[in-house]
Amino acid sequence: MAIGWRARPSRCLRAAPDYNGAVPGRPKRRDSSRVAGVRAALRELEWTGVRRYVQILREAGDLLATRDADFDLRELVDRRFECDSRKCLIWRGGQMLVDSSCCARYRIELTSLDRERLQAMLPLVRERLPESHALQDERQAPWVCDEDYRMVMAEDDHGVCPFVQYDDGRSTCAVHAVCLDEGLDPWDHKPLACSLWPVATLEYRTDGSTRTLVTAYGRATVGLFADDEDDLDRCVCLVDQSPELPPLYESQRDILQRLFGSSLVRRLDAAARTRSPRPRR
Ligand code: SF4
Repeated sequence: MAIGWRARPSRCLRAAPDYNGAVPGRPKRRDSSRVAGVRAALRELEWTGVRRYVQILREAGDLLATRDADFDLRELVDRRFECDSRKCLIWRGGQMLVDSSCCARYRIELTSLDRERLQAMLPLVRERLPESHALQDERQAPWVCDEDYRMVMAEDDHGVCPFVQYDDGRSTCAVHAVCLDEGLDPWDHKPLACSLWPVATLEYRTDGSTRTLVTAYGRATVGLFADDEDDLDRCVCLVDQSPELPPLYESQRDILQRLFGSSLVRRLDAAARTRSPRPRR
């Protein structure tokens, strides 16, 4: 870090004149252990946004930490969430006009496992898609490589995932529908990011180890993701905080349990019992 060349001087440095335990106006004798402490403190200025966010949660008592992961209690427990695709769509005269669902507004990043699974499901999924659908062409993959070299879900002409189907006032996922028809578990066949939505995981480095922050997409976490705040507001499920909706972790209980174990979900249950409702930020 070029400490002397920041465009904006760090407030942290200016606000902490007593790092050495010095009394203002009375210089202290040089102490090598204190200098080491200051240098360690300086490293804090190098933290990534994710690490800073975790620290804010920890200091506020809003973090549940396990051996290698940190769970954001503000997003997972305090926040309300329920997926109802009818709320994301605007219809007129039996025709779908606007789709503001996550399947339309977000770029779905795919892991190698996701692509393997989708490839295996494609023959069955094609049977549900219209004959004119782009994926009926067997040379057409449902993913593309984006500008950051990530494999992401392809989009149709309206920027929507090619597996979205509209029916009876709601949108459905063709992959999910095939799973239900065939008695398969959607968790084993849909992209991980789709199953998790709006839960998101972010890896970050601490001193000497890598940890995972488990949080959720939303206005309060927009700084963690490269998202457009306007897009967040168009996703009704991310905005609606009606008290009758369940806590977010409750809606995604099954997925969280599969990924992090039942003891984690029990700890979230316990946190939900002890946390009083907090005002939304
Ligand atoms: S695969 Fe299914 S859940 Fe995922 S974005 Fe496409 S339609 Fe939505």
